[in-house]
Amino acid sequence: MRRMPSPSAGRVAQPASGALRLGRQAWRALHLDSARSLALAERALALARARGDAEGEAWARLARGFHRLYFASPDEAAADLRAAQRGFAALGQRAGEILAATGIARADWRSGRVQQALERLLPLRDEGLALLRHEQRGVLLNAIAGCHSAQGRSDLAFAYMYEALRDAGPRRGHGFDAVLHCNLSHELLQLGDHDEALVQVERGLARCAGLANAKLLSVLLINRVISLTETGRAREALASVQELAALPLGGAGRGTRALHFETLAIAALRAGETALGEQLLAQARDRGHLALPDERVELAVAEALCAAARGEPRRGLAALDAVAALVAAHDAPTAGDAAAGDAAVDDDLASLRVRCLHAQVASELHEALDDSDAALAAVRRWQRLQAERARHASRARYQAAALQTELLNLQHALEEQQARRRATERARAALAAANEALSRKVAEVEALQAALREQATHDALTGLANRRHLNDMLPRLLAMALRDRQPLAVVLIDLDRFKAINDQHGHGAGDHLLAAFGRLLREHLRGSDLAFRYGGEEFCLLLPHTPAADAAHKVERLLQRWHDQVFALDGLTLRAQSFSAGVTDTLQAAASPDALLSSADARLLAAKRGGRHRVVAGAPAARRA
Ligand code: GH3
Ligand code: MG
Ligand code: MG
Repeated sequence: MRRMPSPSAGRVAQPASGALRLGRQAWRALHLDSARSLALAERALALARARGDAEGEAWARLARGFHRLYFASPDEAAADLRAAQRGFAALGQRAGEILAATGIARADWRSGRVQQALERLLPLRDEGLALLRHEQRGVLLNAIAGCHSAQGRSDLAFAYMYEALRDAGPRRGHGFDAVLHCNLSHELLQLGDHDEALVQVERGLARCAGLANAKLLSVLLINRVISLTETGRAREALASVQELAALPLGGAGRGTRALHFETLAIAALRAGETALGEQLLAQARDRGHLALPDERVELAVAEALCAAARGEPRRGLAALDAVAALVAAHDAPTAGDAAAGDAAVDDDLASLRVRCLHAQVASELHEALDDSDAALAAVRRWQRLQAERARHASRARYQAAALQTELLNLQHALEEQQARRRATERARAALAAANEALSRKVAEVEALQAALREQATHDALTGLANRRHLNDMLPRLLAMALRDRQPLAVVLIDLDRFKAINDQHGHGAGDHLLAAFGRLLREHLRGSDLAFRYGGEEFCLLLPHTPAADAAHKVERLLQRWHDQVFALDGLTLRAQSFSAGVTDTLQAAASPDALLSSADARLLAAKRGGRHRVVAGAPAARRA
C-alpha cells in the first residue's frame, strides 16, 4: 500500500476557510454525487468570490471544470480549469496546478486534440505521481490512458488504467474506481475482448449502485450495450437501451455531450427494433455536429443499418462512404509493421472497434446488393482490423508489465527519497531536542549559580548585600575614589536599643523591623550608593563621590524617616525608634578599608555615647579631647 504525503503535509495546518472546505468537498463528491458536487462548487465559488479567497476559488473551479468535462462542453470546462490552474499557480500549489492541467488536457482530448493533450500530460507524470495521491493520481494516470486509447495505443492505455486502479481503490477512490472500470471496459471493447469488457462493466455498475452519478451509469450501460450487441446478443441489450433512454439529460442526468444515441440506435437496429432504432437515430441526428470520429462513424453505421432495415442498402452504403476518411488510414498494416502504433498517430481516425464495425456493416450491405467483390474487400478490411486488434491485445500484456515495472521503480525511488528525508528530519529533531536539553541545563546551572552568588553576597532578611560583599566592594570603591580623586563616604549605622524590641515584642517583631530597615535603605539610596548588613542590627553604607558632610545629611534624613515609621504588627502598633550613625570619608580617614571602618565605628560609638538618635560626622569629641 503506497502512502504518499499530501501536498499540504509540509505546511503548518491552518483551518480551512468556508469556501476552501466547500471547494474540496465538491472535488471529492465529483464522482460520488455529481449534482451535489456541482452545487457545492457553485456555493464555494460564490463564497470565495465574496471573501476574496483564492484557494477556495481554485478548488471550486477545479471541481466545476471537471464536472463540465463530463456533463457539458470541453470549452466550458476549459474556462474553469484554466482559471483554476492560474489560481493554484499563483498560490504555489503544484498539486492543484497539475490536476487543473490534467483537466485541460482532457478538454483538449475531448475536442479531438489528442496529441496536444498528451504533450501537456506526459511532462507532468513523474511530478504528479510524487505530489498526488489516491484518486488524484488516478485522475492523472487515467487522463494519460485516455489519450493513448484515443491514439489506438490500447497497450499503453491498459497499463496506465490498471496503475490508476491501484491508486483509486474503492476505499479511497471517491468513486473514481467506477470510472476506471468503465474505461477499462471501453478499452477491452477496442481489442474485441467482449467477455472481459462485460466483467469490468458489471464491476463498474455494482460500484455505481452506491453513487449518484447518472453520467457514469450511462457510459457503463452503453459499454454493456456495445458488448452484448457485438457478440450477437443485441436483444439482451434492449433492457439497458430502454434504461438509458429513460435517463434524463443535462447536468443532473447523462449530461449534454457524448450521449451515444447513435450507439443505442445500432443496438436497437441489430435487435430488429427498427422503430426504436429510427427514433434513437433521430435523437442522435438532433444533436447536430458530433466532435469525435467514433461518434460520427457510429452515426453513419446506424444510418446504414436503418437504411438496410428499410430495404435501401445502397443508401446505407452512401452513409458509410461519407465517413470513409475516418476509417481509411492504417487499414493495411503489414506483418512487419508490428510497431504501427508507435508510428504516426492520427487524431482524426476512428477507433479500431468502430472501424471494425464499419467494415462489418459495409460487407453486409455489399452482400445484400449481391456485390460479392466489394463484400469480400470489406471482409478483408475487417480481418486486417481484427488482426490488428489481436496484436494490440498481446502487446498490451507486455506493455502493461513494462510500464508497471517503470512506475514501481519510480515509486521505490520516491519512497527512498522520503525515507531519507524522514531520517534527516528525525536526526534534525534529535539534535534540536539535545540542544534544547542542553540550553535548559545551562539555564538551570546559571540560575543555580546566580542563586549561590546571591546567597553568598546577600542577606536574606534585609535584602541587602552582606558583610562579605562589603569586604569585596570596599577596597574596589576605595581604589576608584583614589584614582578619581573623589571622596568616598563610609557610614556605620546601629539601631538603638534594639534588644528591647526583641525583648518586648519577640524576635519576629525584631526581624520585621530589620527587614523594614533594609527596605528603607534600598528605597532611599542612589543607584551608585551601596548598603550592607554589617552585623545583627548594624548596617554599613558606601557612598561614592560623596564627602562625609553630605553623607551625614543624607543619613539624617534617613534617621528622620526611620523614626517616623510606625508598623502594625499582630494587632499592636510598633514605632521604629531611632538609630545612631558614624560617618567618615576618605578625606578624613587614612585610605585603607580598615582605617575607614574603624573611623566610622569610632564616630558611631561617639553617637551612642552622645545619647543615641544621632549622626556623628566630625572627628569624635572623645578623641579630640
Ligand atoms: P544599643 O542602642 O546600645 O545598640 O542597644 P541594643 O539593644 O541595640 O544593643 P545590643 O548590642 O545590646 O543588642 C543588639 C540586639 O540586636 C541583640 C540581638 O538580640 C538583636 N539582634 C541582632 N541580630 C538580630 C536578628 O537578626 N533578629 C532579631 N530579631 N534581633 C537581632
Ligand atoms: Mg549593636
Ligand atoms: Mg543596637
